[in-house]
Amino acid sequence: MASPLRTCVGCRQVVAQEQLVRWVVDPQNPSRILPDPKRRAPGRGAWLHPIEQCAQQAVRRRGFARAFRSGGITHDLAALLHVMPTESVADSVRQETQTESGSGKVETR
Ligand SMILES: [Zn+2]
Repeated sequence: MASPLRTCVGCRQVVAQEQLVRWVVDPQNPSRILPDPKRRAPGRGAWLHPIEQCAQQAVRRRGFARAFRSGGITHDLAALLHVMPTESVADSVRQETQTESGSGKVETR
């Protein structure tokens, strides 16, 4: 089953969309963006690895403004990191990686 590929607006890598968090423009405030963990929000989406490094790059390169074709997007790293659903997504990505590589410590319960 092939996953759709998406480009991370931070590091610009093209990866399966499961590795990325989708972001959309806040309908209440068009200068702000919100994570869309369920990937169901209407409108144009931007995709970002749920890690600080990619968030920093996205801010520096104004990647969200480019993705949304809107110069009005505020790139605020602190706000991004504050709302970014890092834990859950990073966990699931990490688990997939461990399963694929078959190495490392896998916690069992
Ligand atoms: Zn990235």
